[in-house]
Amino acid sequence: ILVDGKHVCECNACYRGQDCSEFVQGCAADAESGDPLFLEPYWRQHAASSAVVVAGWHRMSYQTDGDYFISIELERHIRRLHSHVGNAITDGRFIVFGAGSTQLINAAVHALSPNSSASSPASVVASVPYYTVYRTQTEFFNSRAYEWKGVTSKMGGEVAANFIEFVTSPNNPDGRLQQPVLQGSSVIYDHAYYWPHFSAVKAPADGDLMLFTISKLTGHAGSRFGWAIVKDEGVYRRMLSYLGINTMGVSRDTHLRSLKLLKAMLAEERGAAGSIFGFAFSTMRERWHKLNKLVSSSDRFSLQQMRPEYCSYFGKIRDPSPAYAWLKCEKEEDRNCHAVLRAGGIISRAGYKFGADNRYARLSLIRSQDDFDLLMQRMGALVTKEKARN
Ligand code: PMP
Repeated sequence: ILVDGKHVCECNACYRGQDCSEFVQGCAADAESGDPLFLEPYWRQHAASSAVVVAGWHRMSYQTDGDYFISIELERHIRRLHSHVGNAITDGRFIVFGAGSTQLINAAVHALSPNSSASSPASVVASVPYYTVYRTQTEFFNSRAYEWKGVTSKMGGEVAANFIEFVTSPNNPDGRLQQPVLQGSSVIYDHAYYWPHFSAVKAPADGDLMLFTISKLTGHAGSRFGWAIVKDEGVYRRMLSYLGINTMGVSRDTHLRSLKLLKAMLAEERGAAGSIFGFAFSTMRERWHKLNKLVSSSDRFSLQQMRPEYCSYFGKIRDPSPAYAWLKCEKEEDRNCHAVLRAGGIISRAGYKFGADNRYARLSLIRSQDDFDLLMQRMGALVTKEKARN
């Protein structure tokens, strides 16, 4: 970064000094949040083609060229991208923009809930292990129209009118491709990770309401941009009304940046090694391979099982490359896996946050290379210690 006209390093939290080479003693490996900095090296390689310069007078208005605070050009490129990757059907569907898919999660719950106060509230549910925000948002907004009812396994698979089920596919934290569990529920498909980076693309997703985010696609989590693809016009209009009341749409600056990023991606040759999909997949595959190899030599820890699968985007069978490791502590005395890891100098996300047992903890594999290398070093030390004890 530039400070007072000089280039200075933006160091990882565990390093300091002019060239970020001094390790901060005792610093813990941060594998907690899903900050997608693994994509930063790709954009460094494409700095010029992805740069945006905005003159002071440009895009000052509340209005956009499209209706409802939507830029027509960006919407068109989102449709092009899905058809290029083959991961979602957008023909004849409506598209809504949000400040990250985080904003769209509650917009979708609102839109699928009954709009008459005479009806009983919709029950919002997800399957364990689930992404925490579905619960925290639903509880926090504390609406009369919907309530968090917990996990699908407690619902007995009943016919579920007036239920809203979150289906995260691939799942955060365990990377599994998922289907709804309840019959007859309204489904919100969260496809944040349904990109060739993290998963085999099996077929274009065709859910009634699907969420995507630029955060896990290009890595620009800080731009706060997500979109929903919606079949039903009534649901679409209710989402728009939520966004109109809530923020009056997404930052127009973010529209410009997102468009530039999508254009840079779409200009690339399909699946080429230096392309974003080639880069992201090979980085994630390598990280998973290294961690999996290390953990498979341990009796104390285990990981979710993942198999190579056919991917229509790459046109071949490809190795697993999940965004997160869903680590299990196997020993009776390691009941709190998060604490075991913390004592070993690793910050994870505890299982209970996903509605799961604390024998599990999530390790983020999508952070910077420094974060991942330190994670490997600390996991390596834990496994070595285990072997020395045996
Ligand atoms: N859904 C899932 C499953 C996620 O993992 C995340 C980010 N961690 C989000 C939604 C929200 O992403 P954003 O708000 O950055 O678009």
